[in-house]
Amino acid sequence: MLYLDHAATTPLRPEVRDAMAPYLGDQFGNPSGIHATARRAKNSIEEARERIAALIGAANPLEIVFTGGGTEADNLAVIGAALGGPGGVVTTAVEHAAVLESARFLGRIGHDVTIVPVDSDGCVSPDSIASAVDDGTAIVSVMMANNETGVIQDVAEVVRLVRSANDRTLVHTDAVQAFGSLPVDVHDHGPDLISVSAHKIGGPQGVGFLYVRDGVRLEPVIHGGGQELGRRSGTHNVAAIVGLAVAVESTVEGRSVYRERVAAARDRFEHDLRSRVAVRVTAGSASRLVSHAHLRFPGISAETLLVRLDYAGVAAAAGAACHSGAIQESHVLAAMGIGATAAAESIRFSFGRDDDAATGAEAAGIVTGVIEDLS
Ligand code: PLP
Repeated sequence: MLYLDHAATTPLRPEVRDAMAPYLGDQFGNPSGIHATARRAKNSIEEARERIAALIGAANPLEIVFTGGGTEADNLAVIGAALGGPGGVVTTAVEHAAVLESARFLGRIGHDVTIVPVDSDGCVSPDSIASAVDDGTAIVSVMMANNETGVIQDVAEVVRLVRSANDRTLVHTDAVQAFGSLPVDVHDHGPDLISVSAHKIGGPQGVGFLYVRDGVRLEPVIHGGGQELGRRSGTHNVAAIVGLAVAVESTVEGRSVYRERVAAARDRFEHDLRSRVAVRVTAGSASRLVSHAHLRFPGISAETLLVRLDYAGVAAAAGAACHSGAIQESHVLAAMGIGATAAAESIRFSFGRDDDAATGAEAAGIVTGVIEDLS
């Protein structure tokens, strides 16, 4: 099986599994307790927090808030900032549903919400983001890279322009897809809030973190026992948090090798396909993550192609997977002005850390065979 759906989720890294194992066995303590078993769990969580903070350059480990994944981190950032500040939200039309639906929720309860359009490559102009910011804007949320197309946004410029438009407005970036490929380093000129999810980087599903710059106040979205300094209640998933820290470490340490290998896989794949079949690369001239190949095969139904590829041993995806597993019309492609027909002929292949140019060539060979059968 050629697994080319790493944007959906990634296999657990062996070192992550090994690090988690004791916490699924005799290290079962609840870190909120007093006794030695609880204290060991608490120490493990605090070590994980320190490790992650150091790896992203955060001065204070308490700037890391553990969450139940990327969706929860996005909700906490967007809703938490809007409820805690003056209220308005500015975001883009291509954000993940975790951000867009949080913004829509805020709209329903009376907050000002502005959704800024993107160009035909899926890029948002930092100027148009800044122009949408006013005195009442609590938060701007612009993703580092898109989960469907891999297109990278100029978040640094967004931060710069938003700060000069309103220095009380917080900037959030969803780095869930980007973290595997792009450096995420926290510094004075960076975003105030950054979401990361473990399962996109070789960690377990259902855990992630939100970086929250020192001094930033968020209203919690999950209420309860006051864990995570009241910012995210609920008993910690100790095994998952330990796994998250190891996944972050392996990702940061292996990023440059990853980028080289995965770029070779993706570039070879696109190159070989282009020379053999009719194919269009979505946002082919934009700056994209090295992992993503979002391709349109004119005249071929994506749904049929996915099923045939699955038979042929290639796992890929169309649109964004939702809870039912059905293919939903992509709001990302629609926002880029890509019509329903073209969208229904488009597929996302996403490569991972074990892939290289040979994987790209092999995948292109299989995809070519299936396309020729279907043509
Ligand atoms: N944000 C982006 C860009 C994503 O790609 C995803 C997952 O697909 C999420 C957020 C949600 O993360 P999680 O699956 O950890 O809830």
